[in-house]
Amino acid sequence: MTEFSTRAVHAGQEPDGPTGAVIPPIHLTSTYVQDGIGGMRNGYEYSRAGNPTRDSLQTLLADLDGGVAAYSFASGLAAEDALLRAALVPGARVVMGNDVYGGTHRLVSRLHVPWGVELVVVDMSDLDQVRAALEGAPDQTVLWVETPTNPLMKIADIAALAELGHGAGALVVVDNTFASPYLQQPLSLGADVVVYSTTKYLGGHSDVVGGAVVLADEELAAKVQFLQFGAGAISSPFDAFLTTRGIKTLAVRMERHSQNAQAVAEALVAAPGVERVYYPGLADHPGHDVAARQMRGFGGMLSVALSGGPAAARRFAESTELFALAESLGGVESLIGYPSEMTHASVKGTELAVPENVVRLSVGIEDAGDLVADLQQALQR
Ligand SMILES: *Cc1c(COP(=O)(O)O)cnc(C)c1O
Repeated sequence: MTEFSTRAVHAGQEPDGPTGAVIPPIHLTSTYVQDGIGGMRNGYEYSRAGNPTRDSLQTLLADLDGGVAAYSFASGLAAEDALLRAALVPGARVVMGNDVYGGTHRLVSRLHVPWGVELVVVDMSDLDQVRAALEGAPDQTVLWVETPTNPLMKIADIAALAELGHGAGALVVVDNTFASPYLQQPLSLGADVVVYSTTKYLGGHSDVVGGAVVLADEELAAKVQFLQFGAGAISSPFDAFLTTRGIKTLAVRMERHSQNAQAVAEALVAAPGVERVYYPGLADHPGHDVAARQMRGFGGMLSVALSGGPAAARRFAESTELFALAESLGGVESLIGYPSEMTHASVKGTELAVPENVVRLSVGIEDAGDLVADLQQALQR
């Protein structure tokens, strides 16, 4: 079992022992009977500590990224918080990009900084800025990389940043939510930890909120496991089942998302009223070469700046029929969003603010021609 598509279907997915059910039952149980005091069967005692349905998802996630372990959580932010609490102490430093997911910036600036963590925000695509931010770094320093970024699809060079981070003794973390493990393998590029909002491409069907941490190091993995158990932001058995079910089709979905987004990006470049298209699959995108090197495909996310300014952008976002106006991304259905008032409303007026003529698309797996036609009719309006 070596190729990704095979592992996505089979890793951690043993048929049920007693019945032979190809899909094991969802273990909807809080507790497990013991054969005498302390006589646990298969190590299971209480479902915050361990649950077979969650374990099979975690085995799958660790396998897909080539990690030593993975832990799944109730949301992407719960996963990020557990990792940060495992890695940081008062006096520690976090260096992150000026265009990371807004909730990640909020988590660190509002919840970790008050406990004595220093936050330094840089342009991750400028290695000199990153080098300067890592100078005099304390022992506990996290270099937090997100690529591609939301919503302007900036690309950071994971291998170069891992080398830079390790040179300064930092832990290198990659938020791989936009790419998914199918398109990008951060651990093999030198990163130490991968985090996900599994709500997005891994779940893939807009029906479950979840998160995960995948680690290359046993010692840090044990700390994250302790936080999962000790703070308790676990994924429920049903959420774990839905996420596992989604992952089985990840490879085929990501291929189709990438093909459709490329077709949409190319159509939009040529469309009237469009000032700029942000998609790493376009040859003139600033990060195109790095993306082509470190990704298997360019993914399903893109953004478009309209020449008619904020009013045109709002009108466009409200005029599509197939693309549903909604937050989130990564599902089989296409979504459209207006970042400055939706996903990025909380960072308005800060260094993370998004231009007000930008509209973000999460391109689904529908027919590419239908998607392009929908965007063209919306642009005409
Ligand atoms: C959605 C998202 C998160 C947060 O995940 P939740 O599941 O919403 O908590 C983190 N990073 C990125 C890149 C995201 O898109």
